[in-house]
Amino acid sequence: MDAGPDRGMNGQAAKILIVEDEEPLTLLLRYNLESEGYQVDSVARGDDADTRLKESVPDLIVLDWMLPGLSGIELCRRLRSRPETKSLPIIMLTARGEESERVRGLATGADDYIVKPFSVPELLARVRALLRRARPERMADVLTLGEIELDRVKKRVLRSGRDIELGPTEYRLLEFLMERPGRVFTREQLLDGVWGSEVYIDERTVDVHVGRLRKALNRGNDNDPIRTVRGSGYSIDDRFGKKAG
Ligand code: CA
Repeated sequence: MDAGPDRGMNGQAAKILIVEDEEPLTLLLRYNLESEGYQVDSVARGDDADTRLKESVPDLIVLDWMLPGLSGIELCRRLRSRPETKSLPIIMLTARGEESERVRGLATGADDYIVKPFSVPELLARVRALLRRARPERMADVLTLGEIELDRVKKRVLRSGRDIELGPTEYRLLEFLMERPGRVFTREQLLDGVWGSEVYIDERTVDVHVGRLRKALNRGNDNDPIRTVRGSGYSIDDRFGKKAG
């Protein structure tokens, strides 16, 4: 796996602690987070997590609401009261129907929450966003692919030094693809990752925005970095700009 954007400049993977007592869910999360290049650790009890977090602090916690030993919300409150974990990014997992609880969760200091059952790509997107917010140095400010440069600070895209005008959706789409060059995403994964799974949008909308992105990006240039993978979806060519000729 390439050194993705979720790694530090020194190549160190971000450490994530999963605190969850449903083992199948822990395994699913672990598998997917590890596939993204994160270093994952897990505990099934709230009190064990509390002990563990006094010893070492990860870069982010995925914390279940209902836990044996110590509830997620109480753990969250304790973490916020200690200087070492005061600003530790926390994503709280809640069950459907805990609406008022969710609000309490945020009030207690979680940075984000996600309602079970959730889509894995959405959770990964939240993790990424939170890490980026918490540790901006973890994420490259400028993504580069061949002659294409995407500047996250200035929200600006250049191709061969020339400004490319993109709408906000096309920008996010390009950013999403450039974060993982070479990987093929289905329309559904792109919807989840770029628009978020709570928004209902027809999958054909993805084609429309990819079309717009292509048009803007390739104006006056016939070398297209975006690949359409028939029957699958889209990816950005990881060898773009590295090919001979
Ligand atoms: Ca639970």
